[in-house]
Amino acid sequence: MPKTIRLLLGDQLNQNHSWFQQTDPSALYVMMEVRQETDYVRHHRQKVLAIFMAMRAFAKHLVAEGHRVKYYTLDDPENTHSIPQNLQKLISDEVTTVEYLEPDEYRLDQQMQAWCQTLSIFTCAHSSEHFLTCRTDLAEMFKGKKTYLMETFYRNMRRKYDVLMEGTQPTSGRWNYDAENRKKLPQKIEVPKALAFAHDARSIDDLLTRMRVETLGDGQEGALPWPITRQESLQVLDHFVAHLLPLFGNYQDAMHTDHRFLFHSRLSFALNVKLLHPLEVVKAVESAWQTRPDKISLSQAEGFIRQILGWREYMRGVYWAHMPKYAEKNFLGHSRPLPSWYWTGETKMNCLKHAIGQSLSHAYAHHIQRLMITGNFALLAGIHPDEVDAWYLGIYIDAFEWVEVTNTRGMSQFADGGMVGTKPYVSTANYVHKMSNYCGQCHYQRAQKHGEGACPFNSLYWHFYDRHREAFQNNPRVGMAYRTWDKMNPSEKGKILEQADKYLQTLDSL
Ligand code: FAD
Ligand code: SF4
Repeated sequence: MPKTIRLLLGDQLNQNHSWFQQTDPSALYVMMEVRQETDYVRHHRQKVLAIFMAMRAFAKHLVAEGHRVKYYTLDDPENTHSIPQNLQKLISDEVTTVEYLEPDEYRLDQQMQAWCQTLSIFTCAHSSEHFLTCRTDLAEMFKGKKTYLMETFYRNMRRKYDVLMEGTQPTSGRWNYDAENRKKLPQKIEVPKALAFAHDARSIDDLLTRMRVETLGDGQEGALPWPITRQESLQVLDHFVAHLLPLFGNYQDAMHTDHRFLFHSRLSFALNVKLLHPLEVVKAVESAWQTRPDKISLSQAEGFIRQILGWREYMRGVYWAHMPKYAEKNFLGHSRPLPSWYWTGETKMNCLKHAIGQSLSHAYAHHIQRLMITGNFALLAGIHPDEVDAWYLGIYIDAFEWVEVTNTRGMSQFADGGMVGTKPYVSTANYVHKMSNYCGQCHYQRAQKHGEGACPFNSLYWHFYDRHREAFQNNPRVGMAYRTWDKMNPSEKGKILEQADKYLQTLDSL
């Protein structure tokens, strides 16, 4: 009979955790596929399949290592589909302790704390031993400040973990190579193939169908491409370092209809379910630059390391500093519903058609597609952040609230009033055209601001700044936009605003 029950959530698949360093016959590890988790938002089919497959592989690994595991499948008749209730049923007279790893999502953290308070036995939450900062580090660092500057946080992390450093100074004297990392994809360039697996997920897919779990997108259940074990995740990391890192930074912001993954790592799923540790990823990249400086320049390595050591940890810090209020923020008071084509990709706007289409078929879009195509449009169109959040939280393979809501409400929708981003990420077609090949094949005219066939981004951009003048006119990072708008002749301004109004009334048919 077990004395200790240890819960493992589906995104806590860290086989190097100290719990597993020795076997303990009195400890029972509990894992479960529950409706509570499949149903709190409508997820992409690949996301549910990949998480369940990875959980099952992890449970098998633990058993092979000699640990005791209780695994509830979705169709187990004993499964109550509630995490606390399933645990409660396992608490016999012999059980003296319930332990769990700190959940990354606020709702689960609250649920576990509340349930533990009802128990008369010893309970304890342990660190997941995954992140490079504690939940409260960022809040302490920026105590009393209105905005949290990522760059300050990132430099501290570089010093703390001694990454790309020479003593107390950054290697080669520079912290940041962002300016060099914004190139458009040249016409003739070879983009290496992504490393994709082909897992047979059909039996889990049948299970989801049988249990009537509602999902979205293409399951690719016959050939699920995502890594589901630590070994496979390490292969994706090796592939990235060997083939993609040499040009990662250069084309980090580029978008192209023929290359949906470009030089991106596709590591976010493995990282977020903790099959990989962020420091091992950072160190692999740093060491590749050190051993192959002829192939991998410092700007490529720094560009990548900034994402993990900087943005990823920073977003988590913002989340824990401001939840639960953060998930309700709507600084700009946006209220429109999400256009229906976000769920189908059926729009005449080529950039959105591609970004949404690939999200539905691959559960993936890279950062700039999320920020400057789908996010940009939602912000310009004044969509309610709740609707935007539900979409991002469901559709991406890597979407977990701690990193989704901070990127969506914060960075992308300016709903936090500028805690994360110091300016709104909006643009006209100029930016989209500069960074992609989308506009050339579009129904709309990228150079036109109003009239038949004018690109919607153009008029909506000015409408956004015009209607939010109070919020942004004193922001030094957007001063240029207001100077341009104020210099435009009144009749032109009138036509642009009229065009935007027309588009806002017919969003579903754009
Ligand atoms: P790469 O481009 O190869 O980057 C490497 C790694 O850096 C990523 O795997 C990720 O772990 C980290 N990273 C990069 N940018 C960020 C960032 N802004 N915040 C946190 N980590 C970052 N990322 C998620 O993991 N989950 C989400 O739910 C999520 N939602 C997003 C929503 C919006 C609106 C935006 C603008 C961004 C979102 N991101 C999210 C951040 C980023 O887009 C993804 O991490 C990235 O696209 C994953 O693909 P990749 O692994 O190929 O990343
Ligand atoms: Fe997108 Fe406008 Fe370019 Fe069409 S013209 S692809 S809608 S930015």
